[in-house]
Amino acid sequence: MSEIVIRDLMKTYPGGKSPATDNVSLTIADGEFLVLVGPSGCGKTTLLRMVAGLETPDSGSITVDGRDITWLSARDRKVSMVFQSYAIFPHLKVRQNIGFGLRMRKTPAEQIEKRVRWAAEILELTDLLDRYPAQLSGGQRQRVAVARAIVVDAGVLLMDEPLSNLDALLRLQFRAELKKIVRQIGTTTLYVTHDQAEAMSLGDRIAVMRSGRIAQLGSPLQVYDRPEERFVGGFLGTPPMNFFTADVRRSEGGTRLVVGDQLLTAPDHLGAFDRRQVLVGVRAENIDVAKAPADDRIRARVEVVEPTGASMLLTVRLGEHELKVQAPPNFDVPPEQDVWLRCGPESLRCFDPETALTLVN
Ligand code: ATP
Repeated sequence: MSEIVIRDLMKTYPGGKSPATDNVSLTIADGEFLVLVGPSGCGKTTLLRMVAGLETPDSGSITVDGRDITWLSARDRKVSMVFQSYAIFPHLKVRQNIGFGLRMRKTPAEQIEKRVRWAAEILELTDLLDRYPAQLSGGQRQRVAVARAIVVDAGVLLMDEPLSNLDALLRLQFRAELKKIVRQIGTTTLYVTHDQAEAMSLGDRIAVMRSGRIAQLGSPLQVYDRPEERFVGGFLGTPPMNFFTADVRRSEGGTRLVVGDQLLTAPDHLGAFDRRQVLVGVRAENIDVAKAPADDRIRARVEVVEPTGASMLLTVRLGEHELKVQAPPNFDVPPEQDVWLRCGPESLRCFDPETALTLVN
């Protein structure tokens, strides 16, 4: 087990207009499962590859348990890696594929056999040890790749989109299995994905990256519920967080948000922003919808109604903004009808409209 400390890591590829990683600092605790997530090109893979020793930084440092590994070659680092492409050898049986790293390390044969059996057991590959990769399904091949990585007692496990070659259902199944396996072996894990649902599901903490920087780091629920910038709220969640602009008005009766010609109760802290415009974020599941008007509800027009089974997803128009609202599954309403929304002040997240950063720290 190992603690990874990344400090001020800079990397610009030759010819690159902006840094692929821009002063990234991050500590991954011993035994922690940390997920790097973000849109394509934000620098996740570059960061992971620098920890693996497959890419060198321009500056900054990486230490594992206090040992500076920044300039060590990949083979001299105690890390193992699982790639998107599996990278298992087609001419070797499952048993030899799993034991490959151990053979490279000149581990005695009986120890290899023991470790391979242990990993095969965990990944439910025991009955497949004498098959070739061509005789396996995609999910089974992916398990072999994971078994090969965990069998080497590396202390640090790096995974780059390991589930992205699996179909949607397998991906979902293997995600939960992977979580169980990694918890069981307790290895410090750095995991890259562009899939926000996967990040939320797997990570003890997630680091949301944007343009080479970490936009926010925290537990999945923290980051989901309290985005520090609009980008994070808009990236995490299905549907992503809704945003609309509103004006703050403070009076003796309390602080309100003026949305078009309608009023909403504002969170208390907005009293300090009287007369200013704010960007308001609210999650679809935090909007309560009704068919009749009532105090502190605002009117919106239904545009689209999508049954998802577990809920009814409404797209509604609120002035110039379109919002997604998660209604109960039996909430039956035709398009073009008015509905009334209540967004409790405790569920409103407010951002500076210019910087798109949160107004609360
Ligand atoms: P994806 O999810 O698409 O894999 P990512 O977040 O992992 O994206 P990186 O692959 O780290 O992003 O790329 C970060 C930036 O560096 C991108 O702008 C990319 O075009 C650039 N880049 C990555 N690899 C190289 C390379 N070998 N040479 C030049 N530029 C590169």
